Amino acid sequence: MATHILSAFVLIVLCALPARAATKAIRAGRLIDAAGKAVTNVVIVVDNDTIVSVGTGAPPAGADVIDLSRYTLVAGMIDVHTHMTYYWDGAPGTRPLGQPRRPAGVTTVLAAENARRTLDTGVTTVRDLGASNEVDYAMRDLINMGKMIGPRMFVAGQGLSAARNGPPPDPETFRQQAEARIAAGSDWVKIYASRGSFQSVDTTQTVSYETMKAAVDAAHAKNHKVAIHSYGPSGVKDAVRAGADSVEHGIDLDDETIAEMVTRGTVWVPTIDHNRYYVDAKDEYGFAPDTIAPLQAYIEKNLESTRRAFKAGVKIAMGSDAVYSMFGQNTRELGWLVKAGMTPAQALASATTIPAALLGMEKSLGAIAPGYFADIVAVDGDPLADVNALINSVRWVMKGGQVVVDKTK
Ligand SMILES: [Zn+2]
Repeated sequence: MATHILSAFVLIVLCALPARAATKAIRAGRLIDAAGKAVTNVVIVVDNDTIVSVGTGAPPAGADVIDLSRYTLVAGMIDVHTHMTYYWDGAPGTRPLGQPRRPAGVTTVLAAENARRTLDTGVTTVRDLGASNEVDYAMRDLINMGKMIGPRMFVAGQGLSAARNGPPPDPETFRQQAEARIAAGSDWVKIYASRGSFQSVDTTQTVSYETMKAAVDAAHAKNHKVAIHSYGPSGVKDAVRAGADSVEHGIDLDDETIAEMVTRGTVWVPTIDHNRYYVDAKDEYGFAPDTIAPLQAYIEKNLESTRRAFKAGVKIAMGSDAVYSMFGQNTRELGWLVKAGMTPAQALASATTIPAALLGMEKSLGAIAPGYFADIVAVDGDPLADVNALINSVRWVMKGGQVVVDKTK
């Protein structure tokens, strides 16, 4: 009698478990490992949100088998520069910039679409570098709770910047602001150290070395990292010297700055593709015709500095700087990184192992290996031969053990 009650109880409990709790075994035709090498005919076993084994044996008995033997599997990619909360629905008569203000709760729900478009590209983790009204905190937390579908998010909240028409910010103010962001819930601190955004490629530095350093030191003292935006070379130089963990954008980097990045291990996120996007989307934004040539000139200089920095050994990470209608194009940066001299495997590392380490998640993100989050992407074709397989041929995405994109049928 007791046994019967127990089995009935076990049965009920088992039936009540969500489907994702079952062990999954994924058959991969080919898998690109963390060293950028292809391994064929692999079985990946996933329990809940974690990879438990990667091998060539048979799937465990009772496992839910997912057959991806037609595809190449890579680790879920990481886009280290997004603005997930910048939402635009493309309604006629509206533009991405200058939309009416929305309550933060409305933006949170609408921006879920940006999160889903990002997953479609095989990006399962983002670092979001600047948002208003803590909408990025809300998205991060809802996604972690399983209440919103999207990539795992590491977020900065509101970036620190110079006042538009006031005096330059002083070190004490930035120290306090960095601490306030962290206290409010930011994972990262973002600093805008120069002008330049959207159609403007103005490289003017707006924050001094001393002020950047005060914010960086304050964040580091609390074990948080700092990303510094600079369109021009002087701001990049000062950001690197001030101890930024990553520097965003930038052109005309001098040899001394590049050498300093190598010595310090500073990660550079050139975001070359975002200006390509602004050129392509000029009509959506209503950009003036005379803004296009400077954007194109910036792209060329951005690419040239990336080529020199990569050759010198600077760690480079994939960042799209995606906003509004750019979501869904998050990984196009990979094409520019190959143009800058990377092999496709090196470009993939810039979207997996390098950003995982930047995020301090090198033991759980950026690789398909035991103990790592089950963030896995299946693509058609051979991404080691042609990086476009990663950009245009994503067919299936698993994030934390859950299938979030399936175009295999
Ligand atoms: Zn940005």
